[in-house]
Amino acid sequence: MRSLRTQLSLAIVLVVLLTVALISFLSNSLINRQFEAYIAEQQRAHAASIAENLGQYYDSAADAWDLTYVHALSMYALSDGYIIKVCDAEGGGVWDTENHDMGACRQIMGEISARMTDHGASGEFASQSYELTRDGRKIGAATIKYYGPFFLSESDFSFLHALNAILLGIGALSLLFSLMTGRLLAQRIARPIRKTARIAEQIAAGRYDVQFEGRTRTRELHDLVCSINRLASALAKQEDLRKQLTADVAHELRTPLTTLGAHLEAMLEQVWEPTPERLKSCHEEILRLGKMVADLERLELMENDGLKSEKSPVDLRALSGTVCDNFAGQLAAKGLRLETGGEDATVCADKDKLGGVMTNLLSNAVKYTPEGGTIRVLTRDTREAGIITVEDNGPGIPEAELPFIFERFYRADKSRNRATGGAGIGLAIVKSVVAAHGGSVTAENRAEGGCRFTVTLPKQGR
Ligand code: ADP
Repeated sequence: MRSLRTQLSLAIVLVVLLTVALISFLSNSLINRQFEAYIAEQQRAHAASIAENLGQYYDSAADAWDLTYVHALSMYALSDGYIIKVCDAEGGGVWDTENHDMGACRQIMGEISARMTDHGASGEFASQSYELTRDGRKIGAATIKYYGPFFLSESDFSFLHALNAILLGIGALSLLFSLMTGRLLAQRIARPIRKTARIAEQIAAGRYDVQFEGRTRTRELHDLVCSINRLASALAKQEDLRKQLTADVAHELRTPLTTLGAHLEAMLEQVWEPTPERLKSCHEEILRLGKMVADLERLELMENDGLKSEKSPVDLRALSGTVCDNFAGQLAAKGLRLETGGEDATVCADKDKLGGVMTNLLSNAVKYTPEGGTIRVLTRDTREAGIITVEDNGPGIPEAELPFIFERFYRADKSRNRATGGAGIGLAIVKSVVAAHGGSVTAENRAEGGCRFTVTLPKQGR
């Protein structure tokens, strides 16, 4: 498998290479073509200007040609690659460079042909005729022979070579820059990914306290890093909960099991008489343990199932009425008075689970309110939420204990609770269900005595 750095670098280099090659090829051929057309035009103009100059060397008064100048001009033109032939108005020969210096002509023509063949041009020497006139009168004709359609001098070639060298240099520089950019970019992307992968491995190995420190400016990488950090925190929280639960369960089971074991042992060793009262006490302890296990199962079910609730519109007043009816027997047995009332309030909720919440709150109220007390269940409707309050005029909850009563296994008054048989799980279930509905539950002591539990459920439940 190739690393991200190699892949990115390769991709960028490839793109740059292709681009540079294309630009070089196009610009080269374009510049060459333009340059050749320009040179051809220049050469045509130059030949025409030579012919025009030749006309200057005719002396009309003497009806003769100044051959010294014609000679000088022809030699000068020959060095540039132009071979001149001049004849007079009657067609008689005046000057012929080829006849004059055959050797020099051959040499220059040979050099030009060789240079142009090397350049890949397929031209040849061709002659152009120009009529020579003076004051509107024909004085003769010139034939100028040069390599066509164009030919390049040494300096023209140097110019083209320099141009190619510049293009090549630009190509090489772009390649270098692209390599560097590719490496830098890949490094920037790869570093946080590698770091995140290492963190994920640590999480997999059970180390949840790791967090990605540092910043990345790429949005997708930032999201990835945030998700990994959130995953680590969530797993750490789960792990803490798991450890806490195991510790709590062990702690809660140890005391009754030790007591039970000690009692049974004493009876087996006949230290104690197995009286019906003692056996009944052991049986009650076992029942309490059984209830605790059942509560734990319920709690587990609630916590795992919280989000899978079947939600539908529920009228809180009607629901509290139904739940209260179920308590009629217990209320009567303890001589408790129940007051219900308030407004209709409909929320979107899981009816059964909400029924469980109310049952828990009411059973606590019944459990902790002394005989002859009063319990009040009220519903309220606000624009955003439905609210249920359960009040009693029992002993209330010590202020210092209030923040903890919703925790698992928390019992405000240990000795009193042993008598009431609670395991301290009921309110943990209440909190878990209400939280799954996106709501909140609070407990407070009433000024008149007793306590008040308030459940607030948003109308747009989760
Ligand atoms: P339990 O099974 O012990 O009742 P809960 O979780 O339902 O467990 O309640 C936690 C603790 O909160 C109880 O042990 C009790 O001390 C306190 N508590 C709950 N409801 C009331 C109430 N209505 N009056 C007084 N104390 C209460």
